[in-house]
Amino acid sequence: MNKKEITVTKPFMPTLSEYLEYVEKIWNNSWVTNKGPLFKEFHLLLHDYLKADNLCLTVNGHSALDIAIKSLGLSGEVITTPFTFASTTHALTMNQITPVFCDIKESDLTIDESKIEELITDKTTAIMPVHVYGHSCNTEEIERIAKKHHLKVIYDAAHSFGVQRDGQSIALCGDVSIFSFHATKIFHTIEGGCAIYRDKNLEPLFNAFRNFGIYSEEEINYIGGNAKMNEFQAAMGIVNLKYMDEIIQKRKKLTLYYRKKLNLIEGIQYFVPEKLSTYSYNYAYFPILVDENKLKISRDDLYEELKKFNVYTRKYFYPLVTDFGCYKEQYKDVSLPVAKKISQQILCLPLYYDLSYEDIDYIYESILEIKKVVE
Ligand SMILES: *Cc1c(COP(=O)(O)O)cnc(C)c1O
Repeated sequence: MNKKEITVTKPFMPTLSEYLEYVEKIWNNSWVTNKGPLFKEFHLLLHDYLKADNLCLTVNGHSALDIAIKSLGLSGEVITTPFTFASTTHALTMNQITPVFCDIKESDLTIDESKIEELITDKTTAIMPVHVYGHSCNTEEIERIAKKHHLKVIYDAAHSFGVQRDGQSIALCGDVSIFSFHATKIFHTIEGGCAIYRDKNLEPLFNAFRNFGIYSEEEINYIGGNAKMNEFQAAMGIVNLKYMDEIIQKRKKLTLYYRKKLNLIEGIQYFVPEKLSTYSYNYAYFPILVDENKLKISRDDLYEELKKFNVYTRKYFYPLVTDFGCYKEQYKDVSLPVAKKISQQILCLPLYYDLSYEDIDYIYESILEIKKVVE
């Protein structure tokens, strides 16, 4: 084995000269953070790209979730998914809210909307679903349930940048949707994030919670942290946004190639989200499910064996949130059979802009080699 390392992800890098052009602007006016000119420019560009009237740029995606929860004034219980990154759940518990976990669907791994209503109590204030891997939740049905029970909806759309329907971003769903612009996400600003909110009247709250609760020069009306996006992040956003269509197209080609290859291996299942939803798909991840009985290798063994071929995959998401050390005592009795099963089978294969067809060939051949040994 003399193949170079294939990591599970790799940030998209624009050309250095493009980025430096903007860094030079920062140097010329010595404005590095606090609503600088590049922040404003990026805000406008995103406004147009998403066709979103109200948006709040933040230092990262987690802060966007935190600010959304605070701005909507949520409390009590929030119904959410256990099949997500720690950030979703922590954002609730750090705001003294009890997450109530709803199971997911096998078809697309998003929250099972048919099981939401039975979890609603008189303490429920909101639903917080996740468009996991860029797979779109059933937003119509979630909207109907929320309306009927007077609940707010915050979508964790961290994986969903670029997902649209009829030219409209999926971020326009719900009371708030948040994106993460972390380096590992499909679109990035190094670190960064954004909240898109429906009610224009929330603007002063979002702005205040982003900046220590400062309402005006002499009024601090809220208890908030610091979640401001700086000029270097905004510069990366401005430059990377130009590549968005190209990034999605390239990932689509790689995904179709993966599917063609993996079709030939019994025991590996992949998802075809573009067939399951009326929203487009952004090809943000390439998750597979390993059927141990058919493949004759467990997910964990495949993960370990692939490392020997210099192929680094990720058990994303394993363990389930309810099995984290910090939550397992509280949630030891909850029943989430689908999420449990999926978290044992899931594996995300490498997918990023710079991945090549040859890399996918190599990953495919490596899986065949691993299979050969056990046969
Ligand atoms: C990445 C991620 C976040 C947090 O975003 P950061 O920008 O890393 O703070 C939240 N939720 C999900 C589902 C994520 O994948």
